[in-house]
Amino acid sequence: MDFDFTDKQQNFRLDVRAWLAANVPAELRGRGFASSRADLEAVRRLRDWQRTLYKAGYVGMDWPTEYGGRGASLVEQVMFYEEMSRAQAPQPLNRSGLSMLGPTLMKHGTAAQKGRHLDRILTAEEIWCQGFSEPNAGSDLANLQTRAVLDGDWYVLNGQKVWTSMAHVSDWGFFLVRTDPAAAKHKGITFLLLDMKSPGITIRPLRQITGEAEFNEVFLENVRVPASNVVGKVNEGWGVAITTLSYERDVLTMIRHISLRTALQKLLSLARRTQKNGRPASEDPVVRQKIAALSIGERVLQLNGYRSLTKILRGGAPGPEGSTSKLFWSQLDQELAEFATEIIGPYSQLKAGSAMAPDDGEWEFYCLLARGSGIRAGTTEILRNILGERVLGLPKD
Ligand SMILES: Cc1cc2nc3c(=O)[nH]c(=O)nc-3n(C[C@H](O)[C@H](O)[C@H](O)COP(=O)(O)OP(=O)(O)OC[C@H]3O[C@@H](n4cnc5c(N)ncnc54)[C@H](O)[C@@H]3O)c2cc1C
Repeated sequence: MDFDFTDKQQNFRLDVRAWLAANVPAELRGRGFASSRADLEAVRRLRDWQRTLYKAGYVGMDWPTEYGGRGASLVEQVMFYEEMSRAQAPQPLNRSGLSMLGPTLMKHGTAAQKGRHLDRILTAEEIWCQGFSEPNAGSDLANLQTRAVLDGDWYVLNGQKVWTSMAHVSDWGFFLVRTDPAAAKHKGITFLLLDMKSPGITIRPLRQITGEAEFNEVFLENVRVPASNVVGKVNEGWGVAITTLSYERDVLTMIRHISLRTALQKLLSLARRTQKNGRPASEDPVVRQKIAALSIGERVLQLNGYRSLTKILRGGAPGPEGSTSKLFWSQLDQELAEFATEIIGPYSQLKAGSAMAPDDGEWEFYCLLARGSGIRAGTTEILRNILGERVLGLPKD
């Protein structure tokens, strides 16, 4: 692991800091924390924000220049996210496109697919969603049943996806479909790019515990997709999906942990402002110990993130050990959210819009949102299985 940044990298950090201070729109400042990505107006503003970031050269910095990136190292990308947290700026909207599909296409896509999509991912001209999960295929993803049948140069899709985040605002989706039902479970699956405006797609919002609907059910009825939209080889989509999921659990967690730092700063501020037994909660020894423990956890995540980063910079790819970060991040995220509600007390249950809701209900929203952290991108139990079997080499079951 390399802890030292070069002078050039440190200068880059200062440039970014100055740029963010001058360019984060006032209405978006602070929205890097506990904010909705379901509301259409919020999505429009975040799309504009990604465009602004792109024009300044801050989106896809680690992508090669031939794909519209800056050809910088992933280190600069991480530094950028750290500075975003410091400035309390929201992240680019097209997260699935940038952190999951982009790297997948660069590795497995055809020249035509790269040429058609990569630029538009960067500019947020096309927002992407991930159509993997189905009603009986979440943890057991290889059980997916959505069928794709070849008809000339087209695949015809029938089936149902579920929990598809941002499907209601997405232009495109990357989907897993079954192309050979006779093959063994992990075989016979194909990775497809799907235009979300295709006839035969019905998107139904699913209301979440937070009260908003960021994810959806997606029904596919005789949806026609050009065969040229297959990524990698037909029936070998499982391997392509593993690339996508590794990036989701590893690189994306590194980005998520940076949001955790924003939450930690907010928690500290909350503890300083909230009275407990006649003095600020931040002076209570138990509160101090808990905040210290959370800060140590956040730092451990950062160092583990640097370890993964070092591996990638040395030519490796994200591996199963990325599950450690995802697992630990989700635990910290939930602990932090719950501890904030302990500091606030019963008022923590008041939501945005209530005159008496502390911090305009941000903590109520954050606490409910954090319930999903141990489910999305691999549940806690599944990540423990992966770590046990694939990292520690323990016997299966
Ligand atoms: C906020 C959020 C956003 C999401 N966004 C997307 C998205 O954009 N696209 C997408 O495709 N999916 C998305 N998902 C779905 C997510 O990937 C699934 O919820 C997840 O994989 C779990 O699947 P499941 O919900 O079907 O639960 P199940 O797999 O049915 O699991 C239920 C419970 O059983 C446990 N369990 C299951 N199998 C085992 C086992 N072998 N050993 C031990 N325990 C086990 C699980 O840990 C869990 O506690 C999202 C989920 C959330 C919460």
